Amino acid sequence: MNIQCNHCQHTYKLEHNHVTIRYLKQDYRKVSFVCPKCNVATHGYYTNNQVTYWQNKLATLRKNAGKSDEAMSKYNREEEHYQELFDKVQEYCRGIK
Ligand SMILES: [Zn+2]
Repeated sequence: MNIQCNHCQHTYKLEHNHVTIRYLKQDYRKVSFVCPKCNVATHGYYTNNQVTYWQNKLATLRKNAGKSDEAMSKYNREEEHYQELFDKVQEYCRGIK
């Protein structure tokens, strides 16, 4: 995954050491990417345990999605669920100060 820095416009390939995670409350976390060139953090996304759970679940479904139409439509359905959840978490966390 390539990330573009909002600050200096430098584009870089995302690696583990560029990611910072800040806990907001309960299991809600803010994930940011720190630019290797200027060291300024760009907001990535918000997440929680439920989102992480779904990301793993989808990764498994994605592997099988090519095997049958049924598997593909299951993946698409679950992906929609995930998007809804993801959007809710983004919305909710934006309101946390
Ligand atoms: Zn930068």
